[in-house]
Amino acid sequence: MSAKKPSRHEITVIPGDGIGPEVMNAVRSVLQAAEVAIDWDEQLAGAEVFKKGVGSGVLPETIASIRRTKCALKGPLETPVGFGEKSANVTLRKFFETYGNIRPVRELPGIRTPYSGRGIDFIVVRENVEDLYAGIEYLQTPGVAQALKLVTRKGSEKICRLAFEIARAEGRKKVTCATKANILKFTEGLFKRVFEEVSKDYPEIVAEHQIVDNCAHQMVMRPEQFDVLVMTNMNGDILSDLASALIGGLGFAPSANLGDGASIFEAVHGSAPQIAGKDMANPTALLHSSVLMLRHLGEMKAADSVENALLVTLEEGKILTPDMAGGGREPSGTKAFAKEVIKNLGSAPKAYPKREYKKVIMPKVSHDAVMVVAKETRPMGVDIFVATAIDPAVLGPSVEQMIADLPVRLTQISNRGAKVYPNDLGVEADPVDCARLRFKVAHHGDTLSDKDIAQILLRVGAQAPWVHVEKLYKYDGVAGFTKDQGED
Ligand code: NAP
Repeated sequence: MSAKKPSRHEITVIPGDGIGPEVMNAVRSVLQAAEVAIDWDEQLAGAEVFKKGVGSGVLPETIASIRRTKCALKGPLETPVGFGEKSANVTLRKFFETYGNIRPVRELPGIRTPYSGRGIDFIVVRENVEDLYAGIEYLQTPGVAQALKLVTRKGSEKICRLAFEIARAEGRKKVTCATKANILKFTEGLFKRVFEEVSKDYPEIVAEHQIVDNCAHQMVMRPEQFDVLVMTNMNGDILSDLASALIGGLGFAPSANLGDGASIFEAVHGSAPQIAGKDMANPTALLHSSVLMLRHLGEMKAADSVENALLVTLEEGKILTPDMAGGGREPSGTKAFAKEVIKNLGSAPKAYPKREYKKVIMPKVSHDAVMVVAKETRPMGVDIFVATAIDPAVLGPSVEQMIADLPVRLTQISNRGAKVYPNDLGVEADPVDCARLRFKVAHHGDTLSDKDIAQILLRVGAQAPWVHVEKLYKYDGVAGFTKDQGED
């Protein structure tokens, strides 16, 4: 009887810019020596592609390849000065909706840091496509910039479930959700509520919440308390970099960008142009990213074997790249380091706790556009942002006169979120040339029609140009908008 042939994996490989090709060659040589059955489909993205005049920095062939293989190992990509407006990394992330950015943070043997010996071992799970990074920004006036922080029920459910699935796959005991829900009650608050709901499906795992600023403090003071962390995009971006510093810096930080379709694995560091082409780059982060890729593909044994060989190489510390050498140790090159890892295939580190990994089950979340339905949706007012520097004490009465015959009342004017008209609380605002006028229906329970809103816009616009309109809804009797500071 013939032995079953191992299945082969086709993987898109993007060597990238700067030190990218060097660290990628090192990783490919290790995976080849570990006899992982991979067919590489090499594709281009980054500086070279921008210079060809492709504004996204990613060739259509590269997109087509990832769509087919559903898996990419990527080197760092640069946006050369004077080319392209968007980062090729963000293009890839958005294109394939890789919503989960996974950053393991684990103390490495032989890598001395102020935290050595404390057993840091956690994973930051960062939402990767929503939040402020949806990239929706406006100049409301030349001096007033605004960005939209977009957090959805669907996006939050996907990432929170993924965090718990990762905890399950790695036998971890706790997931900490870090948010700014105390201030941002609708966006960060939604994320926190969804986390709490989702946690009920994982009763064997402790679910806790920390305010994100305290979480940053805790991460520096007592990082060993964390197991899995889940956060919205910007919080996760900042705290995952902080976390990398605890275990030796960006040169050691691997990452996975997981999606329902394709997933992309990459080191966190950039192209380090200063050391490019000098055989000095440390391939640890990309090699560890390839380990995450192997586990994603279900190649658990190969992943353990490559990871162990890397850990032994670091533990022994005989052959290290310049960033790791020191304390009288002679530095070696990228190629020599890769050779040493290959030599160590089959060995296991002496003093490094072993973790039993299982393949992460990607959560199944409905793809319906409508995820939450209200029985009653009632528009009961409108916020109109106007570009004006008129004193609110003058603007207010004038607007009230303009709308006197409409079924609405001007309830307030605010500037930078503080109520300045009527200024019954005596708010000492430092105003800018963009004010928000809040109108509500004159009688409780009434509905504001689009026709009335159009009338308000026409009349107010004649005095102060409007730049942004937001309807005020009540969903099943609950306000879908926040109050201003000073508003009852
Ligand atoms: P960087 O490339 O990460 O480099 C910062 C410094 O970190 C380097 O100068 C080097 O320090 C050290 N370093 C980083 N990776 C290393 C490695 N593997 N081995 C040894 N040392 C390493 O950050 P950057 O200089 O801010 O960015 C350079 C370019 O990369 C930019 O164009 C940026 O946009 C791009 N970038 C791309 C990605 C990505 O594709 N995911 C991520 C970040 C940045 P020493 O100078 O001390 O040797």
